[in-house]
Amino acid sequence: MITAEELRQVQIFECLAEPERQRLAQKAADVRLSPGDWLIREGETSSFYVILEGRLGLSKDVMGRVQEFTQFEYKGGDFFGEVPILLGTPSLVSLKAITECRIARFDRQQFQALIRDSEKCSAMIMQKMNERLGRVQQFAAETPASRVLIVGSQYDLDCRDIRTFLSMNRIPYEWLDRDNEFDRIPTCMPANLQGPAVVVDRAFWVPQPPTVRKVAEALGLRTMPTKQHYDVVVIGGGPAGLAAAVYGASEGLCVLLVERNAAGGQAGTSSRIENYLGFPNGISGDELTERAVRQAGQFGAEMVLTREVGNIESMSMPDGGPGYCVELDGGDRVTSKTVILATGVDWRRLEANGVDRLIGRGVLYGAARTESPTVIGKDVFIVGGGNSAGQAAMFFSSYAKSVTIVVRGAGLELSMSQYLIGQIAGKKNITIEPFTQVVSVNGEDHLDSICTTTRGEAPRTRKADALFVLIGADASTDWLPNDLQRDERGYVCTGRDVSDLPSWKGQRTPFLLETNMPGFFCAGDVRHDSIKRVSSGVGEGSMAIAFVHQYLALDSPRLRAN
Ligand SMILES: Cc1cc2nc3c(=O)[nH]c(=O)nc-3n(C[C@H](O)[C@H](O)[C@H](O)COP(=O)(O)OP(=O)(O)OC[C@H]3O[C@@H](n4cnc5c(N)ncnc54)[C@H](O)[C@@H]3O)c2cc1C
Repeated sequence: MITAEELRQVQIFECLAEPERQRLAQKAADVRLSPGDWLIREGETSSFYVILEGRLGLSKDVMGRVQEFTQFEYKGGDFFGEVPILLGTPSLVSLKAITECRIARFDRQQFQALIRDSEKCSAMIMQKMNERLGRVQQFAAETPASRVLIVGSQYDLDCRDIRTFLSMNRIPYEWLDRDNEFDRIPTCMPANLQGPAVVVDRAFWVPQPPTVRKVAEALGLRTMPTKQHYDVVVIGGGPAGLAAAVYGASEGLCVLLVERNAAGGQAGTSSRIENYLGFPNGISGDELTERAVRQAGQFGAEMVLTREVGNIESMSMPDGGPGYCVELDGGDRVTSKTVILATGVDWRRLEANGVDRLIGRGVLYGAARTESPTVIGKDVFIVGGGNSAGQAAMFFSSYAKSVTIVVRGAGLELSMSQYLIGQIAGKKNITIEPFTQVVSVNGEDHLDSICTTTRGEAPRTRKADALFVLIGADASTDWLPNDLQRDERGYVCTGRDVSDLPSWKGQRTPFLLETNMPGFFCAGDVRHDSIKRVSSGVGEGSMAIAFVHQYLALDSPRLRAN
């Protein structure tokens, strides 16, 4: 417990009268930290902290890398928290104990009473706050605006994949369109280079030809598993897989998550998720993903990006128990007692002439936010009438000259949420074309027009700069073991749907999210009969972990991965 006498020895409280110090001491929390413990992490809601003993280090996430600022150590007598409290923001930095520490923590009300009742305290706090805000200003001016420079053409597929990957990982980049921004290309770039060129942290040229994986490696992102054996391998880094990673690691399991591209899945491409519990103003998919990735990492889940799982086989583990061998592209293999499949769905292909030839050259599946600079002042078409098409239309309408939503049915009412229909109605540059189908897409190097037919009437050709296809999605599960039970559309069956099948080999009833292969679970959109929503994916991913625990407990004498 903190005493008034201890507070008197701290400069900020010297000026207070004894009864005020008594009052404060009675309400202060006595926080004790060991070296390595966090006092507060960036992004959390701050209290007001006064350091009584010990030293703390300051760190901050700077464009995806945690940077330590050793020049700004906190020690006995310092205080922290006035900036976020007074600005009403989450903490801008993290503080971690370097030595044993003792800290008096005051909640917001006590802090506000302090600055209201004591002019001297208030003046000291304001002076410190001004000093710190000055540092923030200096930091902003000195920090480069991006970590990656990409020089390439708008229609170069590798260049687009790299931009999408960086955007989904929230790594700031600068993209120079070599066709239109020739004068801005750095002179050190070889003049005869044909494909895209990528420089990381102003110094490292990614080897030619740059690929998503090479860029990920240059940025220090993990692309290789570090262990041979895991308690659970999660395949897919969308909401379901990320939830499984967070819950699994937080509950002590040794977790590997493998994602073929960047974490986030379909949700990561959503410009605004408005129906996820706890975010009344909505949250963009990449922000939700960034938080989940950070959370999974903090709990110790291992995540490898840009790696695709191409094969899974049943096997006997060295201890004699059942398990799985999971093979990544390139042939790397890991083993695990359990697997959670959370591979979601892939965009359904548009059946129209010329589409395959122009994919990535004006015709795009999905609606990555990275496309916003490419549609400024352009005529954009969106095929599809679901929520994803509605979100894409809203997002691109702030950049494009016109956005036309092409739908086969009578309108959006049957397929889109009412809140989105309302938002679209308020946008003057969005038009809806019901009963319309795309017949063909045209262009030499890139899309320049599309041909559509309405109610089966004569086809009409119009200028089009971009066509985003969002006509639903299918499960891509051909690569999974033949024995794994799927429905006629490729979605994976679980629980009750497999319990009576001869292919269920277990002596017990399968767990709710267990497939017909014992210890092989499935969560999220790829599961037969799942509700295709972020929240249900998150729910199923976390539930799958509870079943993994129950499954492992059936076999408890055998060792888990360390
Ligand atoms: C544009 C858009 C907007 C949306 N908006 C909303 C919304 O506002 N609210 C809402 O509730 N829902 C929304 N949804 C639906 C929601 O995003 C999905 O239901 C949810 O993302 C499903 O999560 P999931 O983890 O099951 O699969 P996914 O999100 O599809 O993630 C699957 C992941 O697995 C990876 N993967 C696939 N195969 C492999 C493999 N072999 N090896 C390694 N990795 C692999 C993929 O790359 C992907 O990252 C939206 C969907 C889209 C497309």
